[in-house]
Amino acid sequence: MTISKLLKKAEQVLARCPVCDWCLGRQFASLGYGLSNRMRGNAFKILLLLASTETYLKSRKRGNIRLKQLAEHGMFLPALQFLEKEGITGCAPAKHCSICLGIMERLDEIANLTIQKLKGWEATSILLGSKISADFVEREEQMRSELQIETGEPLKAELNREIGKIVTDLLNIPVDFKSPDIVVVVKIPSLTVELQVNSLFIYGRYRKLIRGIPQTKWPCRECLGKGCTRCEGTGKMYPESVEELIAAPLLEVTQGKGVKFHGAGREDIDACMLGVGRPFVLEILTPRRRNIDLEEITETINRYAQGKVEVNKLRFTNKEMVKFLKGSSATTEKTYKAIAQTEKPLLPEELQKLETIPMPLEIRQRTPQRVLHRRADRVRRKQIYELKVTSKDKDKIILLIRCQGGLYIKEFISGDDNRTTPSITEILGKPTKCIQLDVIDVNLPEEELQL
Ligand SMILES: [Zn+2]
Ligand SMILES: [Zn+2]
Repeated sequence: MTISKLLKKAEQVLARCPVCDWCLGRQFASLGYGLSNRMRGNAFKILLLLASTETYLKSRKRGNIRLKQLAEHGMFLPALQFLEKEGITGCAPAKHCSICLGIMERLDEIANLTIQKLKGWEATSILLGSKISADFVEREEQMRSELQIETGEPLKAELNREIGKIVTDLLNIPVDFKSPDIVVVVKIPSLTVELQVNSLFIYGRYRKLIRGIPQTKWPCRECLGKGCTRCEGTGKMYPESVEELIAAPLLEVTQGKGVKFHGAGREDIDACMLGVGRPFVLEILTPRRRNIDLEEITETINRYAQGKVEVNKLRFTNKEMVKFLKGSSATTEKTYKAIAQTEKPLLPEELQKLETIPMPLEIRQRTPQRVLHRRADRVRRKQIYELKVTSKDKDKIILLIRCQGGLYIKEFISGDDNRTTPSITEILGKPTKCIQLDVIDVNLPEEELQL
């Protein structure tokens, strides 16, 4: 485009309606680099003033019209001053821009509102967004199609960038387009500011040292959480859970509104989780504080949940880790310690059959009867890699079982009415049941969890 064509286009915009520097410059946003639209618009107005002054000196009338347009629609003070100097009065500059309705002149005000809103919320990164009422977009699109402008950018893009710049500079917080701690949404034209506070994700491993507590909070079956006589008003099936024991101290320091507990699988309520512990991510919803000392909180949790639950390896993580843990639980190798009891005392040859069974052993397991109410009825094939009898006593044996994730151990022992085969019952030829179960290891090495 030649300079005169560019100027012509800018003049057409000005002739059409009052426009501020920002809105004039935005029509040419794709031209040049490292410039704000305000600078672009201002440059056009200066050039048009220079050109109009020259016209004015040649032909007072023609120059006069262009100067008036600059003063009135352009709200350009130097044009007004020039006209006044020449003794031409009666110019009435527009009150505000017809495209943005004056919003672009209020960027500092919007930035201040945003900063006020962010007070009391810790963030290591933010992202600024806006919701602009449709008439703003329509007005600009209408003009662009009338004047065939193809070099513009959306008002929204400019607002987000310019407000974002002021806010991040003032607060000294970087912008993060991918996963900001807080998304600030400015509504135009109401100039209200809303915050979308993203969750804080903390990874760790937990050990469950006692039986009888579930992994996650379990709503009361009778009242579904409202509180009734069965649950003594707690709304829960069990007074405590691993989730709540870990979450309580964290909710206090982060001042979050709630939590979601994401475990790499789960153990039965009556099983302990020992060894190095089971990986989990605790998601804290709308936290006010994020900058917390994880070593200190580890100690606090372990003191608070003493004798019941212990955590270790706490560190900050992200949503991806939740997905990874969820996806891994079906395949992750697990090691269990089970105490099995037979109906009648075991004979040495029966025990020998168990000890000499070749490994790995494939188990075909139909969904256990006890979980049929919440899981689809299908057959799973799972591998046992290692099966050891570590001690025996008449009708009791202690088994160490290293297997693929997702194998139901209690049913592997009992056979679950032939739904699991082979089973310990089947191998021994004697009805056998699991009377105690502990998870010794969830074999997800820490190195594989560095997302
Ligand atoms: Zn404007
Ligand atoms: Zn209840």
